[in-house]
Amino acid sequence: MVATPIGNLEDITLRAIRILKEVDLIAAEDTRHTLKLLNHLEISKPLISYYKQNEKIKSNILIDKLLNGENIALVSDAGTPGISDPGEEIVKEAIKNNINIIPVPGPCAAINALIASGINTREFLFLGFLPVNKKEKTEKLEEIELINKTLIFYEAPHKLINTLEIIKEILGDRNIVIAREITKIHEEYIRGTISEITEKIENPKGEFVIILEGSSKNKKQEEIDSLNNLSLEEHYNFYEKENYNKKEIIKKIAKDRNTNKNEIYQYFLKK
Ligand code: SAM
Repeated sequence: MVATPIGNLEDITLRAIRILKEVDLIAAEDTRHTLKLLNHLEISKPLISYYKQNEKIKSNILIDKLLNGENIALVSDAGTPGISDPGEEIVKEAIKNNINIIPVPGPCAAINALIASGINTREFLFLGFLPVNKKEKTEKLEEIELINKTLIFYEAPHKLINTLEIIKEILGDRNIVIAREITKIHEEYIRGTISEITEKIENPKGEFVIILEGSSKNKKQEEIDSLNNLSLEEHYNFYEKENYNKKEIIKKIAKDRNTNKNEIYQYFLKK
């Protein structure tokens, strides 16, 4: 699994070049595309196409070759194979057949967008491309609404604005970074809230990664919000059913509502 540049051709490792020279065959997402890279590196090797639509069939052919002792490098058009690119299928098949899979690390747009974003890198969730279908897209976003980890998406330029609008509608007007054309001439990082960004980008051109701040609400906060929408009596009953005593309940209500314990105590005293 050999990673290749995502723009700048200098971003190929010495090891990747050596491996591409040493293997018997290179399986490529688009052979014409990879041929350009190989010509640039002055490498001449047989190529076989391996793309999403023929992944299953081609996997069988490649597995036979691997079982016959051939060494094969798998590359995608750009970046790390298997990441929003073909690769997963053959890795699974190879493992079933006890064939060694070796990653040859290199560029990945998601990781590089993340590290330059200035948004939390400690914990993140990579979602690749969101579904094209609006209903499925909405459902996917609703599913991740409360996740308080940085979110990473890939998106095509002509869908960028629409996708940002849907994200804003469902996840709120969060801070985002649009990483555009990483490692290329027009590389830029556009930072701001979703509303600010959609105003700034009129006619998106090039390749984009969306890095989105995680939710500041967690499940607990959601629960507290819905409790705070209840009347004080209902709020009290909720905790009573959970077997808390009067003192504990008053303390909990005060904490949920961010008010003084005594105020809540006085309220129930008057009752
Ligand atoms: N396997 C690749 C990787 O490791 O990043 C991703 C392949 S995916 C089919 C292509 C998407 O990755 C693009 O639509 C864009 O969202 C993102 N992408 C790839 N290269 C990029 C670049 N130079 N700058 C920004 N985004 C890029």
